[in-house]
Amino acid sequence: TPSHGKSDGVLKIILIGSSGVGKTSLLQRFTDDSFSENGKPTIGVDFEIKTVQVQGRQVTLQMWDTAGQEKFKNVVAPFYRNADGVILVYNITNMDSFSDIQSWFTEVQRYNTRCSLGLLVGNKHDLMFRRVLDPQMAIALANRLGMSYLETSAKHSTNVCELFNAMAEFLLQNR
Ligand code: GDP
Ligand code: MG
Repeated sequence: TPSHGKSDGVLKIILIGSSGVGKTSLLQRFTDDSFSENGKPTIGVDFEIKTVQVQGRQVTLQMWDTAGQEKFKNVVAPFYRNADGVILVYNITNMDSFSDIQSWFTEVQRYNTRCSLGLLVGNKHDLMFRRVLDPQMAIALANRLGMSYLETSAKHSTNVCELFNAMAEFLLQNR
């Protein structure tokens, strides 16, 4: 269960965002260095663990992968409470997934007031020729939410390790 206490050296990170933005793919790229074009939708909540080296320290990342569909909202909510950090993901080729970010943030905040300890991620950077919004808009939103902004590609493995390392570093600094 996600509800055990804070253990030293373990950071709980939750990935949130609308269905299809690439949350599972980002985790798969990070933990397995692989990518599938047609992965299965996540059911409820799934998790992966990986140990990373941050600022000379060994840190275990416990990464919770959530389902973006509305019908799983109640399943996912308890996991928000125990997260140390949040990665909010949208797809840079899908405007709805960007518009949804504010409501995902609000939803997490209902359960976890530390949720500004997070990053906003625009995934599918490899499809930037189909980009639907100016990255400045994303940066502005991230600033408003107290987050940093990063663009990634799970497919091309762009900024994926950087994303999780940045998250770990950020959380260690703000612990
Ligand atoms: P989730 O619902 O947020 O977990 O999204 P998935 O990881 O299941 O990805 C949804 C679809 O987008 C899948 O077909 C993936 O192959 C695809 N996908 C994920 N990340 C990327 C990416 O960086 N670039 C491209 N082109 N497709 C991606
Ligand atoms: Mg998924």
